[in-house]
Amino acid sequence: MTSARTRARMIERLRARGIVDEVVLAAMSAVPRHIFVEEILANRAYDDVALPINFGQTISSPFTVARMSELLRAGSGLDKVLEIGSGCGYQTAVLAQFVREVYSIERVGPLLTRTRTRLRQLRLNNVRLKHADGLLGLPESAPFDGIIFTAAATHIPATLLEQLAIRGRIVFPKGSQDQYLCVIERNLQGYTETMLDEVRFVPIVPGIWKR
Ligand code: SAH
Repeated sequence: MTSARTRARMIERLRARGIVDEVVLAAMSAVPRHIFVEEILANRAYDDVALPINFGQTISSPFTVARMSELLRAGSGLDKVLEIGSGCGYQTAVLAQFVREVYSIERVGPLLTRTRTRLRQLRLNNVRLKHADGLLGLPESAPFDGIIFTAAATHIPATLLEQLAIRGRIVFPKGSQDQYLCVIERNLQGYTETMLDEVRFVPIVPGIWKR
């Protein structure tokens, strides 16, 4: 149910749906997705669906993780990436396979505690997790070649745009009711924006979660 064979079938489905970046496919075949969900859901971990992870949040479907990773890489290597919304840490672990240094921010403390344990279990030493409001970014570690949001936003705050390196890209679900994957690229002249697939994400929430 959670074997390498199950994972191989997931990879075949991703290919069938149009994921072509071999680096992303290799990363997803290396990360055991079932350890990121509650045990009771482990047998559904490799299905192409989003699943609940507590605190009203969801782990994105394998296709969504693959698609966003592929858009972020755009066919080339990434040195430093900032992820906003660590959640269960699955997207983080996938990024850590092909990004030199991953910084990930999560606003819900108790989610992050579990995620820390999982990432340690996988011996991912190139991930830095931070309990904070991701909308502020991480100026002390900027600039980033890539910034990825795992929750939907209507716009990107100026402080985050400034933390993007020249030729860097932001991939995020844009909108509130109707959402589309959006890629913002920074070049010497400024920023360009491209809207892609329709998607459904939980909304980004400003500030740190309190009990
Ligand atoms: N990639 C994650 C997705 C989790 S859902 C996974 O696969 O598990 C989105 C996550 O974004 C939630 O964990 C939520 O708490 C977090 N989030 C929402 N607003 C945030 C903010 N302002 N700063 C940091 N994290 C935020």
